[in-house]
Amino acid sequence: MGHPLFDISGRTALVTGSSRGIGLALARGLLEAGCTVVLNGRDADRLTLAAAGLPGDVRTAVFDVTDGPSVAAGVADVEQRVGPLDILVNNAGMQLRAPLLEFTDTDWHRILDTNLTSAFLVGREAARRMTARGHGKIINICSLQSEVARPGIAPYAATKGALKMLTKGMCADWGPHGVQVNGLGPGYIETELTRPLVEDEEFSDWVRRRTPAGRWGRTEDLVGGVLFLASPAADFVGGQVLYVDGGMTSVL
Ligand code: NDP
Repeated sequence: MGHPLFDISGRTALVTGSSRGIGLALARGLLEAGCTVVLNGRDADRLTLAAAGLPGDVRTAVFDVTDGPSVAAGVADVEQRVGPLDILVNNAGMQLRAPLLEFTDTDWHRILDTNLTSAFLVGREAARRMTARGHGKIINICSLQSEVARPGIAPYAATKGALKMLTKGMCADWGPHGVQVNGLGPGYIETELTRPLVEDEEFSDWVRRRTPAGRWGRTEDLVGGVLFLASPAADFVGGQVLYVDGGMTSVL
């Protein structure tokens, strides 16, 4: 049996953007830790397929995290169907790579809505309920790019840098009401989002050379950090971003 400080069995968790990639791996980890987990995404069929491959008590909630009314209805529906949320992982996100001079207004708003506004919208809906109950854990999936930018991804870095500060602000507002908010900052992880980078041999080698761990991250590498931040072991950790990046932020 594990240490009681790490016991999160019986909790209910919502993971946004969990039809694939990092969100799906985090959902699996939370299920294996004994949580009831709600998968989220925009496509019902994709979510059903994802849920079918998971063990344990898994549910689905189809809503677009960028749309305020859908988020409000989605979170209310989850609490009604599944029960009070103990854990929220704000994971849904996207990448758009283009030189800043070529970046369109539409894309700017799209990436801001998906990576930043979503955490505000879903976080606010969850925190309304969590603060009323006096407990809850919110984990915002930030990024190595919360700390550093690279050519062609300035808007992404801006969203993730702002998400880091939103994490601290949420901690300041909701911490006094028993809701803990922290971030997890992945390094370069192999998923759909990074496929073009993985397929670019030169860039892929650069990642391996610049990462002290000497390799790309795998989605499973992020599970331990999220389980920790969701557990009583992290009860006095607030407003922090835990970088899980094979050491890359330390050397860049
Ligand atoms: P993927 O592109 O593989 O997955 C993104 C997920 O988000 C999908 O499940 C997608 O579901 C969902 N999603 C996107 N937009 C919305 C929306 N508007 N409403 C609801 N769900 C949405 O990305 P990753 O797994 O790689 O990334 C997950 C998170 O981790 C992101 O926040 C990303 O920025 C962050 N991250 C990733 C890194 C990496 O190297 N991969 C590094 C650092 C951070 P669907 O399309 O079915 O709606």
